Amino acid sequence: MKNINNVLEKKQNEQDLIHSYQDACSNEKFKKFIETLPIEEEILIKYTSSLEDACQEYCNCQKCKGLSFCKNKVEGYCYTPQKEKNIIQFSYIACKYQQQSEQENAYKKNLELFDMPKEIKEASLKNVYTDDKSRVPIIRYFKEFKDQYQKKKSPKGLYLTGSFGSGKTYLIAALLNEMAKNKVCCALVYYPEFLRSLKSSFQTDYSEKFDFIKKSPILLLDDIGAENQSNWSRDEVLGPILQYRMQNHLPTFFTSNLTLEELETSLSTTSTGVDRVKARRIIERIKQLTVPMELIGKNRRT
Ligand code: ADP
Ligand code: MG
Repeated sequence: MKNINNVLEKKQNEQDLIHSYQDACSNEKFKKFIETLPIEEEILIKYTSSLEDACQEYCNCQKCKGLSFCKNKVEGYCYTPQKEKNIIQFSYIACKYQQQSEQENAYKKNLELFDMPKEIKEASLKNVYTDDKSRVPIIRYFKEFKDQYQKKKSPKGLYLTGSFGSGKTYLIAALLNEMAKNKVCCALVYYPEFLRSLKSSFQTDYSEKFDFIKKSPILLLDDIGAENQSNWSRDEVLGPILQYRMQNHLPTFFTSNLTLEELETSLSTTSTGVDRVKARRIIERIKQLTVPMELIGKNRRT
């Protein structure tokens, strides 16, 4: 008796499944949607409710104009049925806009930021203001840099000095973003904060942090000269980093509000006294590593 009951119950369930599937098919959109699927009806019948959800997302995608218009549950993804043997698996598949965005943003994996605003990854040479002439030689140098780097000639970086807010960081970041698009790993480091963080990591990941900037294929030390000077930061950090990068021909960029002469003065005075020789040694290394340029312009900060 139990067996017969089971059989009857099963039959009833199957009937229910067929009915709800037929019901769903009375909707023109649903019908069209399942016609696009290379899946047999006897399998589809078991998944009506999920297929309806998938259909809704599919229809949303059909009229969608871009990621910011996405109406699906997970932005940029479409709930999609796929046949696997005799069952249907539903998964979230990236839509064409999401795929395009992932492709366009792939270069960001090649950028390591240290205490820099995230938006700096969007800086682009295409958007660089051309309204003042002081940018022209810099942009020209960038072209040369890219050319030389491609030919594996280890070009020098820039020591870019200039007034506050003139766009120094933005400009160098724009170049480094392009390099990242060419699959070169670049590190952009806000130097004063990097030093503070390095100092507090003696017991932990000091050498990882140190190596991270020492060995990065291309490095920007942003805002050098704005840090608190100490013998340690000058002789144990900056000196060895520059020495390593010189020996290994690793392009290094600097931005600073100070000219090289001003930086030398700043580096020579620490809390324990004045040491012009050691400051000079650092400046000599920076000179070996870079071409000095100046960006004078109005303050772009809002
Ligand atoms: P600096 O490093 O010389 O102090 P920044 O590079 O930080 O100046 O630039 C100041 C502000 O102007 C930032 O908010 C930056 O994003 C913006 N900015 C600078 N140059 C450009 C540019 N070419 N296009 C868009 N924004 C820019
Ligand atoms: Mg800056």
